[in-house]
Amino acid sequence: MPRTTRTLSNKTRRAVKGGMPGTNSCQGVTESGSPCKSNCVGQFCGTHKKVYERDNPSEEKRLKVTGTPNEKAMLAIMNKMNENIDVVNLAFVMMFVSREIFPPVENVNKFVTGGVAEEVVVDLFDKLGFKTTNVAATKNVIDVEVEVDGTIVGISLKNSGGINQQPILENYRGEKRNEIRNLPPTLIVYTENPPARRARIVYIDHDILKQAYPGLSDEAFNAAVYKQADSNLTFKSGLLKTLIPRLPKEYIVNANFPDAIPKVAKKSITRLALDYVMEQMKHTAETVAPSVVIEDAE
Ligand SMILES: [Zn+2]
Repeated sequence: MPRTTRTLSNKTRRAVKGGMPGTNSCQGVTESGSPCKSNCVGQFCGTHKKVYERDNPSEEKRLKVTGTPNEKAMLAIMNKMNENIDVVNLAFVMMFVSREIFPPVENVNKFVTGGVAEEVVVDLFDKLGFKTTNVAATKNVIDVEVEVDGTIVGISLKNSGGINQQPILENYRGEKRNEIRNLPPTLIVYTENPPARRARIVYIDHDILKQAYPGLSDEAFNAAVYKQADSNLTFKSGLLKTLIPRLPKEYIVNANFPDAIPKVAKKSITRLALDYVMEQMKHTAETVAPSVVIEDAE
C-alpha cells in the first residue's frame, strides 16, 4: 500500500481521528470534499485506492515529452505562461467573472463563456509575445493560430467547465464523418471546484495519446480514446481524469484558483446585444440594404 504524502483536510483529519479503530480509516474524500463513508480497514477503501492510483500514477505509467515540432512550439508557450503566472491568473479571473455575469447553466450563455475563454486565451498569448489570431469562425477544428519562432501552429481550444465534462472535439453539424482525424495540438482550459481547486491549461496532442495507448491498431486506439456519436466526437468518459495525471509536467500550467473575484451582477447577453443595436442606430446617419440572411445557424 503506497504511503500518501497528501495533507489531509481538517474535516478528514477529524473524521480519521474520531473514527473507531479499524473503521472509516479510508483517507479518501468524496468529490464534494467530505470524508469517505465506507467501513474499511487500511488506508484506502477499494474505490479510493483506485482513485489514489489514478491520481498518483507509477513511474512507468508517466508519459514523456515527444519532441515533435508542434509540441516544442506549444511547450515554448506553456513555459512563457509559467514564467508569467500572474498574467495567467488574471486570465482565469476574467473567465470566472464571465461565468458570474453570464451563468453557463443557461444554454445561450454556454456559447458566451466558451467564446470569452477563447478571446481571453488569444489576449493572453498576445501579451506573452506570441502573435495570435482567432480563426474559430472560419475553421472547423482549429480555433486559434499562434506564431512561435516564425512558424504558425493551429490550436484547438477546449474550454471545459470541469474535468468530468468531456469537451466536444469535433461538431459534425449533421454530417458525421466515419474517419477520426488525428487530434490537433489541443489546449484544454478547465477549472475544478473546491476541494480540488484547480485552474489549469493542459496540452494534449495525437502523439502523446499514442504514447499513452501504445501498440494498438488504429481501430482499437480510436475505441480506447474517443466516443463518436452522430452529432459529435468527444473523448471517452473519464479519459482526461486518467490521462492528465500521467502527462509530462511541462504539459500542465497550474494557475491560481482564486479565493475571491470581483463581485458582479448577472446580465442578459441578448439584452446587452439589443442595447448595442440601439446605441449603434443612434450614431449612424448612413443607410444600406439589409443583408440576405443565410440560414446556417450553429
Ligand atoms: Zn474510501
